Amino acid sequence: MFRAKRSDMIEKEDLFDRIGQFLADHRLSPDPAHYSFVHALMTDPDGPTARAVASLTDGGVRLAHDDVIRLGGVVVNGPPVQSAPAPVRTFEPSPEARSDALVAATQSQVEGFAETVRVMHAVTQGFGRDLEESAAAITRQPTVAGLDQIASLTGGMIARIRDTEVRLAQATAEADALRAKLAEARETARRDPLTGLANRLAFEEAFAACREVEEPCCIAVCDVDRFKLINDRHGHHVGDRVLSVIGQMLAKACTGHLVSRHGGEEFAILLGGVSLTDAAALLDSARADVAARRFRVRDTEEGIGQVTFSAGVTAIRADDSHEGAFVRADQLLYTAKSQGRDQVCAA
Ligand code: GH3
Ligand code: MG
Ligand code: MG
Repeated sequence: MFRAKRSDMIEKEDLFDRIGQFLADHRLSPDPAHYSFVHALMTDPDGPTARAVASLTDGGVRLAHDDVIRLGGVVVNGPPVQSAPAPVRTFEPSPEARSDALVAATQSQVEGFAETVRVMHAVTQGFGRDLEESAAAITRQPTVAGLDQIASLTGGMIARIRDTEVRLAQATAEADALRAKLAEARETARRDPLTGLANRLAFEEAFAACREVEEPCCIAVCDVDRFKLINDRHGHHVGDRVLSVIGQMLAKACTGHLVSRHGGEEFAILLGGVSLTDAAALLDSARADVAARRFRVRDTEEGIGQVTFSAGVTAIRADDSHEGAFVRADQLLYTAKSQGRDQVCAA
């Protein structure tokens, strides 16, 4: 039993040493991503990655950070170590690609952590053996030579503790950076880039959440009137700017409520804790503000003329689905449009 455990431990230590040696030989930093890549190599020495590495490093060539990436290693956060400059990308990665990369990075991070914990386990198991040897040395040889041996064993333990601490600090820093990136990605996925407002996804989530609280909620759908004419007369970029200003005005008028850009020139607002009458009054006040504003093209000062929006507002019922409530508000918006625009219809 003891023998089996001990040989297991020695095997792990040997693996740990070989990985450490490989990283040192190739001047790769000992971060979890590199570590798990080399761990995979060592534990599957006949696998395709190991063969690719063997042919790459034939004749004493060092493995670079970029090779690790190319061969399947995912590096979470580390700057390239010993690598050629990264190729210049001519496109922005899509949000999907970014989230895929984050998922891959998270997975690699978790694997890196697991590896760090395994290493720490192996290191601390080694302490038991060192202490046993120290005790044996004292009994055997309570002399200066015995003390020297103890000092050298203790020095080895301290060095391994330091190494493990560095490894753990690195893994923790990577985890912190990744957590921040995930939070940012979550935020970006719920924000409309043009107006900075919440987007449709955030609106749908807020709608689902408002069903769980016992308070009156209303939904409003606003649509800019004759917006196509603004684009046609002044250009799409001016249209974009007008949308952004209207979004900000709605957000200001409806502070405390969720104002989202639902798509195109349409905004959806979720008003929590207000009656239908109050919600309609709030929307009408925002409508009046927008209608009173004199929009101008920023660069030329050319007048854009009056910009208005129409809105439909309805109270969310207990049995309403998101679609049900939204369609009702949209029909009221349609009524407002057909009655001449620049007005709010509530029911
Ligand atoms: P209505 O009063 O009936 O709503 O008239 P409208 O012209 O606003 O409606 P229509 O649906 O005919 O046109 C909407 C226009 O909004 C067409 C589309 O090009 C423009 N649009 C949608 N999204 C954007 C955007 O992000 N930026 C700009 N500049 N225009 C947009
Ligand atoms: Mg529209
Ligand atoms: Mg419109």
